[in-house]
Amino acid sequence: MDTTNAFLQELARLKETGNLRSLPEIAPDGKWIQTEKGKLLNLSSNDYLGLAGDLKLRSEFLNQLSVNSALFSSTSSRLLTGNYPVYQRVENLLAELYHAEAALFFSSGYHMNMGILPAISDSNTLILADKLVHASMIDGIRLSAAKCIRFRHQDYQQLAALVEKYHNTYSKIIVVTESIFSMDGDVAPLTQLVALKRAYTNVLLYVDEAHAVGARGIRGLGIAEEQNCIQDIDFLCGTMGKALASMGAYVICSQLVKDYLINKMRTLIFTTALPPVQMEWTEFVLKHIADLTDRRKWLHDASAIIQETLVERGYSSPSASQILPMIIGSSQDTIIKAEDMQRKGFYVLPVRPPTVPEGTSRLRISLTASITPEELLKLKEQI
Ligand SMILES: *Cc1c(COP(=O)(O)O)cnc(C)c1O
Repeated sequence: MDTTNAFLQELARLKETGNLRSLPEIAPDGKWIQTEKGKLLNLSSNDYLGLAGDLKLRSEFLNQLSVNSALFSSTSSRLLTGNYPVYQRVENLLAELYHAEAALFFSSGYHMNMGILPAISDSNTLILADKLVHASMIDGIRLSAAKCIRFRHQDYQQLAALVEKYHNTYSKIIVVTESIFSMDGDVAPLTQLVALKRAYTNVLLYVDEAHAVGARGIRGLGIAEEQNCIQDIDFLCGTMGKALASMGAYVICSQLVKDYLINKMRTLIFTTALPPVQMEWTEFVLKHIADLTDRRKWLHDASAIIQETLVERGYSSPSASQILPMIIGSSQDTIIKAEDMQRKGFYVLPVRPPTVPEGTSRLRISLTASITPEELLKLKEQI
């Protein structure tokens, strides 16, 4: 069989099982989204605080920019000539916000997870990763020399048994998890992981807060802030592309770890740094993050209402956040339900394998703080 045929056959197979993907023809517009079905309320966005669509904030930022400060390319890696002063300022601001020793900034969450894990692992390392961690962490693990075992989702008894069994076999163990899981919207009890780690001298904790930064914690620093354990997490990772409405990612860590990553992390060393103008916007947003408590509160209340509705209507939703899965099962049924919701004015998307396990296809409702009480009521009725 020639290669073209093999590609065609695989696409045909995906289509048959309802798992074929394509790029949507859409035009996002603040909290709305223009689609072929009309202008719908966007319930698939990660703009959890409504900052990306906030025109007042955007004009305030643009008004302080000048031709000199609006640099649209860094033209180089941070290790060569791309390290503009704004990078330093953002890292200092992050370290200050988290009351931490250091922060290191990357081009994206994908770069971060794909780069840190191989940099800090060798063949004497064991990575214990939650079964449901994001693809970027899986790829980081694949690129590393470490041995990896995936533990059942949030099964910390199994995790503790694995740590106990292997802590003498390996020079270090890295426990890898998300704080808010991207597909189930459930929240990891980080303090429990901290307690486990503390019982050993060679266990490190790696936490990805992509869906939690901005949205959780009194000052918007995430679940680690909410659970009061920022200082106990060795690699506390956040991203700027979701609630914080920018681009890039960061790890909160010790100065030693920062120095080490600058020397060893290939996705930091061998890529062009983000444009300085993007970093200016990141700095601008981070300066506002602590003041957005009202938006966080409304997002929390609105999410609780929808979660309650899902449970009432018989859906099993594990959510404890603004990510609210409506688990249907088969991919075909999920697509039909998604189309129905879209006809009613809500842009929700079907999530199918391989993004989620076989037989757990779902609609993934993701709320933002810009939903009004009236819209929330209408959504409730549609579920
Ligand atoms: C979105 C996401 C990423 C990737 O971040 P980008 O900045 O979009 O590359 C990493 N981890 C998790 C858990 C995510 O949800």
